[in-house]
Amino acid sequence: MLNIKEYHRVETIEEALALLRRKHPAAAIVSGGTALVGSAPEQIEAVIDIAALGLNQITLDRERNVLILGAAVTHQMLVEGAGDLPNTPLFDILRTTAHAMSGLNIRNRATLAGAIVTADSASPLVTALLACDAEITLHTDQARSLPLSGFLAYRERILSEDALISEIRLPVASPDLRFAYERVARTPRDYPIVCVVVRCAVKDGILGSVKIGVGGVAATPIRLTALEFGLEKKLLADFLERELGPAIAALNPPDDWLGSAAYRREMAGVLTRRAILRATSQ
Ligand SMILES: Cc1cc2nc3c(=O)[nH]c(=O)nc-3n(C[C@H](O)[C@H](O)[C@H](O)COP(=O)(O)OP(=O)(O)OC[C@H]3O[C@@H](n4cnc5c(N)ncnc54)[C@H](O)[C@@H]3O)c2cc1C
Repeated sequence: MLNIKEYHRVETIEEALALLRRKHPAAAIVSGGTALVGSAPEQIEAVIDIAALGLNQITLDRERNVLILGAAVTHQMLVEGAGDLPNTPLFDILRTTAHAMSGLNIRNRATLAGAIVTADSASPLVTALLACDAEITLHTDQARSLPLSGFLAYRERILSEDALISEIRLPVASPDLRFAYERVARTPRDYPIVCVVVRCAVKDGILGSVKIGVGGVAATPIRLTALEFGLEKKLLADFLERELGPAIAALNPPDDWLGSAAYRREMAGVLTRRAILRATSQ
């Protein structure tokens, strides 16, 4: 960030949006700064620090059964279980995948919105948020809610509208829901090459409420929506036999030094199967 000429510590979302809308100098929101400081485009000459907006709260709306995570909640806050987070499978999966993001120093700075905007292909936390059916609250001309999957699909376009994310909302899973996280990496503590988070309920061998997030097989983590629909109300054994293969064959993963497209596709199948079996056997 060698071209920074202005630093603004805003106190309201409107103030942040007004600064974003000014085209000269071009501005960027800075939250934890762990991605932006090393990679800000040259034209960025102003930063908008949102630390004073109070977006670092974790609240459980018990009436609506929604977990509200402020955009500036750090990855380490999820690991440590800030606030009165009850010990449920939903919190467990957030804790596990936040921990898998990076080492302690980065986790202490890096925020949820930072991870969502950066949307690294194999991000364990963003993959888990997808499988948890997260919605984000986005402020442009007005505040609106949109599914995280929709945001990721149109990320570039949405961000070009000078957008600020204020919170991430997760439906609080009923006690029947189970989650599992599976990954492959070069070493046991390394960042994943491919990862999968499955959320599902199972009754008498029949699956329901299935959500599957996969990281490392596209530019950002994705949901396997077609497979999710295919699984609903099916016998688990039938699914493993019939539905998984075609859904995985349709993926078009990147091919790079960490893993070939064929390897990533193969791993996505293995990990999805493994995660479903683990989630359903809990
Ligand atoms: C040593 C190191 C290791 C890392 N390892 C990983 C890793 O393993 N996996 C990984 O995914 N990332 C990794 N990162 C990158 C970074 O830590 C993460 O992407 C992190 O989640 C970014 O969060 P942040 O709060 O620091 O974002 P920032 O750097 O502050 O911002 C990142 C982007 O998000 C935008 N932004 C931030 N908050 C908002 C908001 N509320 N509304 C709208 N836009 C917003 C910013 O404008 C910017 O474009 C690493 C970085 C470092 C330095």
